[in-house]
Amino acid sequence: MYPAYAAQGFVPLHAATFSGNEKKYLNECIDTTFVSSVGEFVNRFERDMATYTGAARTVVCVSGTNALHMALMLAGVERGDEVITQPLTFIATANAISYCGAHPVFVDVDRDTMGLSPARMGEWLAGHAAVRDGQCYNKGTGRRIKACVPMHTFGHPVHLDELVAVCREWHIELVEDAAESVGSLYKGRHTGLFGRVGVLSFNGNKTITTGGGGMLLFNEENIELAERAKHLTTQAKVPHRWEFVHDAVGYNYRMPNINAALGCAQLECLPAYIDSKRAVAAEYAAHFSNHPANIEFFGEPADTRSNYWLNAVILPDHEAQIEFLTQTNDKGVMTRPIWELMNRLPMFAGSECGDLSTAEWFSDRIVNLPSSVRL
Ligand SMILES: *Cc1c(COP(=O)(O)O)cnc(C)c1O
Repeated sequence: MYPAYAAQGFVPLHAATFSGNEKKYLNECIDTTFVSSVGEFVNRFERDMATYTGAARTVVCVSGTNALHMALMLAGVERGDEVITQPLTFIATANAISYCGAHPVFVDVDRDTMGLSPARMGEWLAGHAAVRDGQCYNKGTGRRIKACVPMHTFGHPVHLDELVAVCREWHIELVEDAAESVGSLYKGRHTGLFGRVGVLSFNGNKTITTGGGGMLLFNEENIELAERAKHLTTQAKVPHRWEFVHDAVGYNYRMPNINAALGCAQLECLPAYIDSKRAVAAEYAAHFSNHPANIEFFGEPADTRSNYWLNAVILPDHEAQIEFLTQTNDKGVMTRPIWELMNRLPMFAGSECGDLSTAEWFSDRIVNLPSSVRL
């Protein structure tokens, strides 16, 4: 069975691939009636993902966006705080900051990662922030700078060691938006495990999918936060055989069993999917090396192993970017520009920003290419 668009020669940007036990596990959910908030696939998916990533504990959520919201709350972000992130990201990163009543501060990205730059962040903090009583404050706005959310753009890990060091120096919590980087490694270690908590997404367009879904990743030293996350994502209900007692304002953020079943099957295929995506990336890299139109393929940063979720090329200028988008889409090949910068969207237009010249440079040049798994 192929999707209808395949017959018409259309090449999508990223299609989901189901090549394993998906139907078997989904049928198990239906046959046992465990399709919702109770069922063994939820526990199994959490366990199997912990084994795969090396996390001490994982907690599933309904989406990556609400996993991010939960992660920021767990990191202690409160109403009126500021949270440093990159302008070059999917809207969910900035939205999650807003859900907490906090304000995003946009700091530039690095040329070799497309993700939050530790050097630019250190410079911005040196010019704008001070540490008092173990907390970081913005000297201009008077607000506390509680956390920082780097995003591993298209699966390419940011410079994590340096970012961890800047966060330590300035007493800022690190929350990784690893939504795009399942299977991506930094110095051999899975992304999402370098700060207080990390977030994955299993939306339909990601490397593996649960339909919709997300996950929180925790290290051994944050195991108590994981317990808290499990509690808060399940309406903060106090366990009891029949009583309905809740001890906090909780959330219905728990992933249903039917989605987790899909996740278990997808995870079994993940190593093969990443091999395939890296092979596709290698072909693009070869095709665009010394390209006559001066188109550069964006390769993984040093010391990392990227999942190459979405392949990206850098066009020489904005005119060439538009021309490339027009020609490819005219031919039924789905390509897309990178997201509009967050600071240019109406709800974040007044946000505090550092110098964003690298993000602006990428915004005028990046095009994403079809990147589906090919088996
Ligand atoms: C996909 C994605 C998310 C989470 O999205 P959901 O669709 O809610 O799972 C968050 N941040 C980034 C950068 C993403 O690409």
